[in-house]
Amino acid sequence: MAEYETFTHDVLVIGAGGAGLRAAIEASAAGVSVGLVCKSLLGKAHTVMAEGGIAAALANVDDRDNWKVHFADTMRGGQYVNNWRMAELHAKEAPDRVRELEAWGAMFDRTADGRILQRNFGGHRYPRLAHVGDRTGLEMIRTLQDHGIHRGVDVHMECTIVRLLRDGDRVVGAFGYERERGRFRLFRAGAVVLATGGIGRAFKITSNSWEYTGDGHTLAYDAGAELMDMEFVQFHPTGMVWPPSVRGILVTEGVRGEGGVLRNREGRRFMFDDIPEPYRAQTADNEEEGWRYTQGDKTARRPPELLTRDHVSRCIVRELKAGRGSEHGGVYLDISWITERLPNAAEHIKKKLPSMYHQFKQLADIDITKEPMEVGPTTHYIMGGVRVNGDTQMSTVPGLFAAGECAAGINGANRLGGNSLSDLLVFGKRAGEHAATFARANKPGAIDASQVDEAARQAVEPFGRGPEGEGPYQVQYALQAMMQDLVGIVRNEDEMQRALAGLTELGARARRVGVGGHREYNPGWHAALDLHNLMTVATAVTRSALERRESRGGHFREDYPDKSAAFGSVNVVVRKEPDGGMAVSRAAIPEMPQELKRIIEEMK
Ligand SMILES: Cc1cc2nc3c(=O)[nH]c(=O)nc-3n(C[C@H](O)[C@H](O)[C@H](O)COP(=O)(O)OP(=O)(O)OC[C@H]3O[C@@H](n4cnc5c(N)ncnc54)[C@H](O)[C@@H]3O)c2cc1C
Repeated sequence: MAEYETFTHDVLVIGAGGAGLRAAIEASAAGVSVGLVCKSLLGKAHTVMAEGGIAAALANVDDRDNWKVHFADTMRGGQYVNNWRMAELHAKEAPDRVRELEAWGAMFDRTADGRILQRNFGGHRYPRLAHVGDRTGLEMIRTLQDHGIHRGVDVHMECTIVRLLRDGDRVVGAFGYERERGRFRLFRAGAVVLATGGIGRAFKITSNSWEYTGDGHTLAYDAGAELMDMEFVQFHPTGMVWPPSVRGILVTEGVRGEGGVLRNREGRRFMFDDIPEPYRAQTADNEEEGWRYTQGDKTARRPPELLTRDHVSRCIVRELKAGRGSEHGGVYLDISWITERLPNAAEHIKKKLPSMYHQFKQLADIDITKEPMEVGPTTHYIMGGVRVNGDTQMSTVPGLFAAGECAAGINGANRLGGNSLSDLLVFGKRAGEHAATFARANKPGAIDASQVDEAARQAVEPFGRGPEGEGPYQVQYALQAMMQDLVGIVRNEDEMQRALAGLTELGARARRVGVGGHREYNPGWHAALDLHNLMTVATAVTRSALERRESRGGHFREDYPDKSAAFGSVNVVVRKEPDGGMAVSRAAIPEMPQELKRIIEEMK
């Protein structure tokens, strides 16, 4: 084996967002040595972008809330294909994780009597999102980082992992490169936690940043782990649509939680036109009641703008298809109308939604206290990911754990807003704890030199082809455009078969990709290496979406527009075959205990 700079940790955490940081803190607290690797600078993870808040049944604003209601809301939102054990643990443990964050120094917005303030969000029956204005993620990551650094976690910034290393079945390390110098790094580890976030960059219009190319999903898949629910991609209903340079950037659901309404070009609040049956009893049937709900009236039901994201996105698409869209191909989201109701509305909006105010002022020259925003769906989140044990977060490969957005299970077919930040805290902690236990219980494995040398050889291949090869950005763009068009919000067999054929062609192009220059800070090279990940997750999404012949949550098929009972009891799983092909299968969802079934029935 060639000589590489080598680091040894009991637990190696890949990804420094909320899940990775929380895992690192917990593993370190268990007394093992911890390394934390991230693709960009510490603090720049996706988590920092989170706006609306952390969902936890603290019951500070509405004392009717408790873990059972949160559990039932999460299962209903996920349309009952969630890993019910994860949904249960999440609902039970989220309040403690939020209070712990507060004890570590997070400064939340407050109720009048000094408790953590909670806001309304789509699909949550009661105000449940602990928040800091619309900059909750920033406060969360700042707090976790401070705490993690003081715990003695070793951080390896701007280092991208390209391969997990195995000894037999077990994962024993990872191999990657430094972004700045292009030098390789070898990590030996007793256990590895993947916390690499999402896959949004597999689509053209997305709220996700450049980092979210499905790396953790692909690392796990290549190492033999199963991926689950990959067809369930969340298209958030409200991304910016204009100007083109900002298309896809998120407009937080907090706008609707604070009273913002959706209108089409005719000025109609179209969300009242289509309220799904399971939500009818909980949803306001007139504008007045909806407004009262957003102002904390406990006798009122929530406005239809706060229905689940999958449904709101589809309603927007329906308006667009019917020619009732806004000037630049979206619909109108209006919070300025509350000036009719509140005396100090402009100040109130700026206080509650400071980032949204500045985002629209600076990027679109729109004053949201005076005029409506134009919004449309944007690829936001993937419910699918590494298949894990609900209690330990270990994948189907020993020694390999996953937490946060790159893991599957808790959200089922659709995630409720705010449930990601709480997922990171609950399952980041669990992953860190169990990875530390695994590392302690098992002797260090051996590093296989041939795996390392092969990973290094493959990584530098694009230089051999040089600038005459295919351009990595051209292939990336073609992939994103195709996924957006053919495997987007509304899907059908014919288009997805075309996408599969397109993926085969793009795979051939990806293998011909070449880059010029050298290894020191070379973004073209990094983009070339990301392509393998994008291709893998795009294929997994398409193959899984073809397999699920029904519509459920984030997955809508116009050729199978209804839910099917048969698919309601299975998850779709993909894994890598020995010949490199992708096997797709259905896995039966384990029977839910009576006690949990009863809770769901009671909350209907
Ligand atoms: C604009 C926006 C607003 C949001 N608002 C909310 C909200 O209000 N509430 C909520 O619950 N959710 C929200 N979400 C979703 C939520 O922020 C994310 O799902 C969550 O932060 C993901 O956290 P994570 O820890 O799993 O990963 P991330 O925070 O995405 O971090 C991933 C980490 O992995 C690293 N990484 C990736 N690949 C590699 C690699 N190959 N090698 C090394 N490191 C790697 C990255 O550098 C990064 O450090 C929002 C998302 C966006 C985009």
